[in-house]
Amino acid sequence: MARIGIVTCSNCTQDTNCAAVVCLADMRKRQGFFERYRPHVALDLVGIINCAGCPTLAAPEKILRKVRAVAEFKLDALHFSYCMTALCPFLDMYKKAVKKEYPELEMVFGTHKPLEKKEFQAQVGELLCPSISVPRAMTDLIKEGR
Ligand code: SF4
Ligand code: SF4
Repeated sequence: MARIGIVTCSNCTQDTNCAAVVCLADMRKRQGFFERYRPHVALDLVGIINCAGCPTLAAPEKILRKVRAVAEFKLDALHFSYCMTALCPFLDMYKKAVKKEYPELEMVFGTHKPLEKKEFQAQVGELLCPSISVPRAMTDLIKEGR
């Protein structure tokens, strides 16, 4: 059996409401970055957690609070989600921080089958900051009332 933890990008899972369904589907189907496990090895998903959020240039170790939530439970491998690998500028720093704290823990950089990276980045950018029909916010009401 392989005990697996997944850490995802907060922007993707929180701001765009992704429940990691594609990560989990490919884990069930042993596709993408789950192909690496041999067919007879059962996959046990110990937990999924999102990252500590941007920006973490000043304190990349912040990720450890999140990783600890799965790493402390006899984990065999920690997968960084596809969205993290495609979007996160802090990935190398996270990798170093996790390696230092959990030297024995295997890290895998990916989950579901990779998509075309530039297109994925553009699509997520549009979800986070839509160019068309930007929703009105409290700021608009405040400014209109002044
Ligand atoms: S870009 Fe990186 S630090 Fe920012 S929310 Fe995504 S994974 Fe977290
Ligand atoms: S890798 Fe894809 S399915 Fe998994 S959490 Fe990120 S956006 Fe969602």
